[in-house]
Parts: sequence; structure tokens; C-alpha cells
Amino acid sequence: MARKPREQGPYPESVNRLVEAFAAMPGIGRRTAERLSFWVLKASSEEASALTDAIVAVKGSVRHCDICWSIADASPCPICTDPSRDASLVMVVEQPKDLVNLEKTGNYCGVYHTLMGRLDPLDGVGPDSITAGDLLGRVVDPTRNARGTKVREVVLALNPDMEGDTTGLYLAELLSGSGVTVTRLARGIPSGSQIEFANRAALADAIALRQRFGS
Ligand SMILES: [Zn+2]
Repeated sequence: MARKPREQGPYPESVNRLVEAFAAMPGIGRRTAERLSFWVLKASSEEASALTDAIVAVKGSVRHCDICWSIADASPCPICTDPSRDASLVMVVEQPKDLVNLEKTGNYCGVYHTLMGRLDPLDGVGPDSITAGDLLGRVVDPTRNARGTKVREVVLALNPDMEGDTTGLYLAELLSGSGVTVTRLARGIPSGSQIEFANRAALADAIALRQRFGS
């Protein structure tokens, strides 16, 4: 009689759980998840504890800024509270990594709004999955913006690809009628490339030469 196939995969249940947890991470496929799990199995107790301690510490001490959704130790974050920054100028980025790279240019003196994603209708990611509603809230209600400042300009710093363009069009439509000027980064960044990897000079030019959205 044939053996009944195991339903939970080839490993003990606890290992399966670890593989599933790694496989749920962005960019980690099944084979990589298994390799990482085997590393944990082989690791000393100290090494394994260092990993779990780091995860617990991040979840305990790092949070999102209530205004801009950046990751920070406090809310509002240091950028939103910095009096030397122009809080009437809000640059919209897809993810925290983009903010870090744009900050490296040293050319931007405004504040940010992190969408925590981008629209991807083909993958079922709609407006409720990003922080677009909070962006609109900051624009229409200055008390929700950094240092209670009225927003004058929203700069869309989205990746130059299909999902970035879809997100940009949606936000421009959402903000139309609010009276705010919507601009986007100049196309100094090659189409299809990513803000998180763009070089400093190209990003600085893209910020300086930003254009009114739709033009
Ligand atoms: Zn903030």
C-alpha cells in the first residue's frame, strides 16, 4: 500500500515554520528560505539569539512617523520636526530605502511622505494598501502636516516604471482640486531603474529639474 504523502513538506513542523517565515520575506524564494533555515539549525545558540534579539528590538523600538510614515525611533521623526526644513514641500517616495538615497544627495530641504508601497493592480495592491489617504490628509489639513505647515508642493519621487507611473497618476488625481502643486522628479533617472540604486548626481539633477506633473 502506498504511503500517504506528508502534507506539511519534508521537514519537521518547526523547520517548516521557519522556512515559511523566511519564504514570506521579499526576494526570498523557497530554496533560499531553506538555506537560511539550515543556517539557523547549524548556528550556535548565541548566533540564533542574536538574530531573534535584533528582530525583537527593531519591532520594539522602531516605529513609523505618524506624519510621514518614515521609520524612526520617535514620532514625529527628526525630519518632520527639523525647523531648518521646508515643511510646505513634501516629497513622496515608495519606500524608506528611497528616502535614505534621496537624503544622501544633500540637495533636498523639504520633508517626505513614504507610501509604504505602490499601486500594482495586477498583483491586487490597491490604494488602501498604501498611505495615500494620509498624504491627502496632510495636504487638506495643515495640522496633520509637519509643524502644522500648509503644504505648497507635492513632489512625486516614484520609480520610473509601470507601477510607479500608475501610482503617480492616481496620486495626481487624488490631489487635484486640493490646490497643491504636484510635480515629479525630472526623468534624469533612466526608465526602468530604481531610486534606491540611482547615483547621487542623477538624483540631485532629478530633484533640481523637477517638473509639473502632467507636463
Ligand atoms: Zn516624519
